[in-house]
Amino acid sequence: MSMQASVQVFIGIGANLGDASVTVSKAIAALAQLPDTTLVAHSALFGSAPIDSSGDDYVNAVAELASNLSATDLLQHLQAIELAHGRERPYRNAPRTLDLDLLLYGDEKINTSDLQVPHPRMTDRAFVLLPLLQLSADISIPGKGRAQSYVAAVANQRIQELPTT
Ligand code: AMP
Repeated sequence: MSMQASVQVFIGIGANLGDASVTVSKAIAALAQLPDTTLVAHSALFGSAPIDSSGDDYVNAVAELASNLSATDLLQHLQAIELAHGRERPYRNAPRTLDLDLLLYGDEKINTSDLQVPHPRMTDRAFVLLPLLQLSADISIPGKGRAQSYVAAVANQRIQELPTT
């Protein structure tokens, strides 16, 4: 039997159409079903004001996976989960039913036309940083240092942890 070390992966989850909390919970359940992958933990659900987008508040969370999938394969699975939840993109930054971002893939830096990891905007977004830090207060972002060091700069972004139901 051959064994391969899994990679610590963090996925950003956001939804803002329909019952967004249900959509985020379903996305977490779908991530738990990915092949060659274990769901290690997920943050609480957070409500956040839309940035670069219109409409209702978003519901956000971050999931931690241990995966033997490549980053490219993971991205394809994320896009399949988005599609399965009826994502429609009539125009750029339109409200979406479900958005899944590959935030961190171990300590790798990836820069292809399809995939940038660490996700280039993750340090600008309270709705990524706060759930991520809930899972891993000491996490470092490759090339950018500690995630915690970016929190003060996003303190103006409205976000609150949602009560568990
Ligand atoms: P968006 O509609 O803003 O979620 O962007 C989706 C596009 O971003 C897809 O075509 C992906 O190829 C690309 N992309 C680049 N880097 C990432 C990443 N780290 N996670 C998810 N999508 C990414």
